[in-house]
Amino acid sequence: MARGIETKCLHLEEEEGSSNHYGAISYPIFQTATYAHPGVGRSTGYDYSRLQNPTREHLEKVVAALENGIDALALSSGMAAVTLMMELFRPGDHLIVDADLYGGSIRLFRNVSEKNGITFSSIDCYNADVERYINENTKAVYIETPTNPMMNVTDIEALSKITKKHHLLLIVDNTFLSPYFQNPLDLGADIVVHSGTKFLGGHNDTLAGFLVTNREDISERLRFLIKTTGAGLAPFDSWLILRGIKTLGIRMERAQENAIAIAKWLEEQKAVIKVIYPGLPTHPGYEIMKRQARGFGAMITFQVERKELALAILEKVRMIRFAESLGGVETLITYPTTQTHADVPEEIRERNGITESTLRISVGIEDIKDLLEELERVLNKAEEDVYGRSVTGEKS
Ligand SMILES: *Cc1c(COP(=O)(O)O)cnc(C)c1O
Repeated sequence: MARGIETKCLHLEEEEGSSNHYGAISYPIFQTATYAHPGVGRSTGYDYSRLQNPTREHLEKVVAALENGIDALALSSGMAAVTLMMELFRPGDHLIVDADLYGGSIRLFRNVSEKNGITFSSIDCYNADVERYINENTKAVYIETPTNPMMNVTDIEALSKITKKHHLLLIVDNTFLSPYFQNPLDLGADIVVHSGTKFLGGHNDTLAGFLVTNREDISERLRFLIKTTGAGLAPFDSWLILRGIKTLGIRMERAQENAIAIAKWLEEQKAVIKVIYPGLPTHPGYEIMKRQARGFGAMITFQVERKELALAILEKVRMIRFAESLGGVETLITYPTTQTHADVPEEIRERNGITESTLRISVGIEDIKDLLEELERVLNKAEEDVYGRSVTGEKS
């Protein structure tokens, strides 16, 4: 019987019953760059930490188990993971990518991968006829679901039927839900990408990234690439992410509970014209989410009446911090236009629906009473500043 995910966050089955490392419950940090050989032609299993380090390896095994993969690679950031993944392709290759993606991924594809001779079709994978964009050079489809920041939900299994039929890789950035809520490999994906900086690490204190696969051939290729390019995660950072993962389950549950309450509250505010949270039954992806995920996550995107109001909200938050990033225990509010998606050309932002009055909240695990109180105060004050009206109206 496969174990529950909360258990997998804490225990690696293969290590159980062993008395390694003096019985240390917390996996040791092997802060070493290199390893002495017991003799010529002999190895302890570790030769040099760019190739592998025991702490990083332990973390990789945990993440592989969480995503039901056969292998996971830990990289120095989410972007290092996406960059390594792109080394699977050669000049002339064509990729179909979601139009709405984390801004850094769009920046990488447009400014680095294109220079390297890779071409892209950027489409809304959640509702486009993906097959129409496949040509003889197409090698992969790259998606996020839900997307950052517009929360578009793609049916992973349906898309995987198309990618399998055309022998394409299906690559899914699973950062927004974490393996606690969604396992794309089980739904037909070939590679899962994570920014481990976000929910996996969970404490807004460490950068990390992951690539997970259930295919031997891809694992072998990625192992060659990580050894060759050298962006493997450092031992201490590996340990921090291991520590973060131990509480993944309770953090995700609590953050989601808070997010549902905040999404409902936002929906009632007159100054808020749109709330995009896939856990609201009105979200177009709600039914797909219920089928393919075990939860809806803790990310909410919303739109206020006008830009000035969005800016005033950002000026007035105190406990909630105005900062990039997401997935940590602290609630953060982000302005995609000048932060996460600043380098995405304006016409693409507009096309995706990211406006100057769009805000994104990564809901943390604070007491929900305090979060709602802060939001109410902030919105009131912001409206007062912008409209000179003093009380936030609830929608009638
Ligand atoms: C943050 C993020 C990334 C990039 O990860 P870093 O750890 O910041 O390099 C990639 N994809 C998504 C969806 C993200 O939110």
